[in-house]
Amino acid sequence: MGRLRIHCDNCGGEWDVYHRDDWKKASARTCPVCGESIDPGTWGGVLRGFHELEDGSIELIKDHTQYHKTLFTVDYISDAMYPNRKESRELRDIREDLEGIKRTITALFSI
Ligand SMILES: [Zn+2]
Repeated sequence: MGRLRIHCDNCGGEWDVYHRDDWKKASARTCPVCGESIDPGTWGGVLRGFHELEDGSIELIKDHTQYHKTLFTVDYISDAMYPNRKESRELRDIREDLEGIKRTITALFSI
């Protein structure tokens, strides 16, 4: 069904945790980039919320398939609580490369 996308504000890394993953393993709650880890108790709360949302989504699909009601899907979008969120080094490098290309093109067209 759904998956969780985790964002690490320490390094800007992101990873997905799928239903089929063994999310009780520490690796499910650990940033693969910098190794920072979500507290196990906090992670349990996140998973409980995710299960609730999954159960609700299953009910919406049942309404659609059994009673021919309109299919609704629900996603959780994290609020931008941290507008100064760090971006990953890779993304920053790409952004800098694009700025360099933009400067080159601008210089070429001004000749
Ligand atoms: Zn990280």
